[in-house]
Amino acid sequence: MDISTTAFTVNGKTYHPPSKPVVVICMDGSADEYYNASLARGRMPHLEKMIVTGFRGLVRGALPSFTNVNNSSIVTGVSPAVHGISGNFFYDEKKDQEIMMNSAEYLRADTILAAAANAGRKVAVVTAKEKLRDILSHKMKGIAFSAEKAAQAKMDTHGIDNAEAITGHQTPEIYSAAASLFVLRAGVALIEKGMADFLYLSLTDYMQHTYAPEAEASLDFYAAIDTELGRLLATGAIIGATPDHGMNAKVDEHGKPNVLFVEDMLEAQFGNHFRVICPITDPYVKHHGALGSYVVIHMNDKSKIPAVKEWLEQQPGITEVHDKHAAARLLEQPEDRTGDLVVLSARDVVVGRRPQYHDLSALDGTLRSHGGRYEEMVSMILSQPLNAAYTMKAAGDPRNFHVFDFLINGTK
Ligand code: ZN
Ligand code: ZN
Repeated sequence: MDISTTAFTVNGKTYHPPSKPVVVICMDGSADEYYNASLARGRMPHLEKMIVTGFRGLVRGALPSFTNVNNSSIVTGVSPAVHGISGNFFYDEKKDQEIMMNSAEYLRADTILAAAANAGRKVAVVTAKEKLRDILSHKMKGIAFSAEKAAQAKMDTHGIDNAEAITGHQTPEIYSAAASLFVLRAGVALIEKGMADFLYLSLTDYMQHTYAPEAEASLDFYAAIDTELGRLLATGAIIGATPDHGMNAKVDEHGKPNVLFVEDMLEAQFGNHFRVICPITDPYVKHHGALGSYVVIHMNDKSKIPAVKEWLEQQPGITEVHDKHAAARLLEQPEDRTGDLVVLSARDVVVGRRPQYHDLSALDGTLRSHGGRYEEMVSMILSQPLNAAYTMKAAGDPRNFHVFDFLINGTK
């Protein structure tokens, strides 16, 4: 295989890729507890080998700890303040519109993937959810398709025909373990067939929303992931794996969801002048019922911001409240796409708007979710050991969205 080693620079960082396939995997929703439960039972031998001969360390994700925010960070190498994607939705006060930002037109930074393709790498993006494809493949020459819509991939629009035949698997149901496994299997096939040598594989967290780490379904799922990791390693690829965010149960000791409906709470206390945006809201309702641990508040009367902030800070289950300026600085948010106040909730609590906006009956039996501070810390696992300079960086405050940098520039 003839693999380009031409260096490329994007968003202020220069990458020096090796003449081997490079694979970064976004292990959607893989809180460390999932790896640990499976490793302790010997269900992930290939991951175990990667950890022993390569690297495993804790890294800090981007906030809000949502999927598209962190996927955007991983493929650009920068924070949401720079790339502009701060959730699935934001409210534009000037236009008085709630705007969905699952599209590359809202992305303010170039991607490592597009830059690698321009430098001569054969780039492929495979994502479980179709909603991410547009952002991940922004201005990119190469292959980009989703497991969800694999059957519809076409050379003109996706850089590939017959994706099902090439990967050897049918388009999976999106609410399934198979949706994530398809992504990894596609990655293996694209490398083996010489169609890609620089890959971003983004899984989906339906399984983690539905099952706790020790559940048999989770253990089986991670064992199946491990099989694909083994196949990827066998291609000679170097691999970096990091989650977009962790996952926590958001229920009380009886299994009942702990939900704070913030718009109702504020109306009861201060009257009817609030709009609460849940930036986790997306079409995949079975995952979380649009309930996460992070909401954004817009207020008609800006003079009340300090009083509302002070009141919210006293409410049980709410752990952080930031005004716009603090959110921009402390949470790395794009100031024009956040609100007057940003609210984060406890490890076992989610925040929502009003009950009618959240269909809890759509959930598959429990409420596990993410979005806040307690799903921020995740692991980064690399198949290669770190060099001296990056060993020092890893000891500081490494970020999940530096995974391409660590894998490409930081390993021996
Ligand atoms: Zn996710
Ligand atoms: Zn999720």
